[in-house]
Amino acid sequence: MKRDIRLAVLLLFVVCMSLSLATAWQIWSARARTLAEIATHNLNLTQTLDTYAEGIVTQSAMLLLGLAERLETEGTGPEHMRRLHQLVDRQEHLLNQLNGLVIYDARGDWLMSSNGSVPEGANSADRAFFIHHRDNPSQDIFIGPPIRSRSTGDWVITVSRRFQDLRGEFGGVISITLGIENFLRLFGKIDVGDQGAISLATTSGQLLVRYPFREQDVGRDFSKSQNFLRYYSGAKSGTASFKSGLDGTERIYAFRTNERYPLVTTVALGREEALQTWRQQSLLIVGVVFALLVIIVTIGRLLILDIKRRIQAEGSLVDAREDLLQANRQLEVLAAQDPLTGLANRRCFDEMLKLESRRAGREGAPLSLLLLDIDHFKGFNDTYGHIAGDECLRQVGEQLQQCVKRPGDLVARYGGEELAIILPNTDFSGALAVAELLVERINARDIAHSASPLGRVTVSIGAATLHGAQAQGRELELIEAADRALYRAKSAGRNRVEG
Ligand code: GH3
Ligand code: MG
Ligand code: MG
Repeated sequence: MKRDIRLAVLLLFVVCMSLSLATAWQIWSARARTLAEIATHNLNLTQTLDTYAEGIVTQSAMLLLGLAERLETEGTGPEHMRRLHQLVDRQEHLLNQLNGLVIYDARGDWLMSSNGSVPEGANSADRAFFIHHRDNPSQDIFIGPPIRSRSTGDWVITVSRRFQDLRGEFGGVISITLGIENFLRLFGKIDVGDQGAISLATTSGQLLVRYPFREQDVGRDFSKSQNFLRYYSGAKSGTASFKSGLDGTERIYAFRTNERYPLVTTVALGREEALQTWRQQSLLIVGVVFALLVIIVTIGRLLILDIKRRIQAEGSLVDAREDLLQANRQLEVLAAQDPLTGLANRRCFDEMLKLESRRAGREGAPLSLLLLDIDHFKGFNDTYGHIAGDECLRQVGEQLQQCVKRPGDLVARYGGEELAIILPNTDFSGALAVAELLVERINARDIAHSASPLGRVTVSIGAATLHGAQAQGRELELIEAADRALYRAKSAGRNRVEG
């Protein structure tokens, strides 16, 4: 039963642990799934935005190529500049993002501007893109850092290209400026939450556009930042999770490097925000599972209490049974005992004699019986009273009990002041010896008896023995024989043994 409680507790523990572990695993895998879904979704988004940026730069590059070829073949004379101006005006609507187009000569002076007439003395020799093309013979386009347009005052990105003069020397630069707000307008239509961000940067770590727009982020250089070096540098595309160097927000980033141009598009979601749905669902699951655990534990406790109660009930039943058995044993003793002397009573004597005569017959062993009667006991009672008579009887019984020591021997009160002793496995001479000893002991006890000629209490004993096989079923004969012998002892003068 104690084992039942242990098993119930173990079962309860296993159920609770399994449920908790399964829930934890479910929550953890849901989180991993959510993060993987975010990464895939954002990577797809970077693909779209990358294609958009590539399209704009390609259009710009094509326009630049066409103009450079004309400048290189037709020179930069004022008449030609006017015709180019008209050409650009006609093409402007093809490139929505175009903020302006400017042609510079080899010294950086403005030759033509699509946004109207050239300001007096305008020079851009200090601009990064101009310095790049002047010092670098490559015909490739250059995507410059964001600058504030000198003609419109807007934040713009420059896409520029150099051209040669008619002698094959550096002739100047054509630059197209793309307004940042065009990018921001598109980026703003994409839902990246409150903490999300979308950005376009160069592969060398120069931030071109970032949504949400912040003036202080424009042109920021990430090339030395740990995050840039660790995650972007050299990688074609990928995902990462880190704290933004710009605003310190923890974000999940997906980035993609353009295959033709040195551009990197990044889509980022705030980590907290992205995991919010997962967190809410997890809290709900945890709440439900917790409630389930409480119910399971409560039911389990009730079951265990029930088992404990049953154990207690069974324990008291066992105790009650033990008490009953004890009472029965006492009853048995009482039923076999003579209340006055404490010796076996007549009923017990009869049963034992029958049993012993059967055993003697079976084992072929002798069985002896002594019948003992107190001499002149009537006189004792008359002289000292019945109470004293009872006490005398008890003392004689005690003496007998002390003299008979073998475990199988039985001293019993046969009736009135007559006592009997069953001596199993004892032959006639042995029985006589025991009887003689008893007579002697009673005499030695010297209980005063003024009504007896000897002046003390004495006993007469009749002894009889059955031999082996003939003993079985002849216990009455044995009693009669012992009784006859007792009678002879009385007749012969009492205080003696006859057999
Ligand atoms: P004797 O045996 O020597 O021939 O003489 P007796 O006087 O002992 O005669 P008997 O054996 O017939 O005695 C029977 C008397 O024993 C009767 C009664 O007074 C007394 N007696 C029998 N049972 C009890 C008892 O339980 N208590 C007391 N006090 N006396 C008893
Ligand atoms: Mg008698
Ligand atoms: Mg007598």
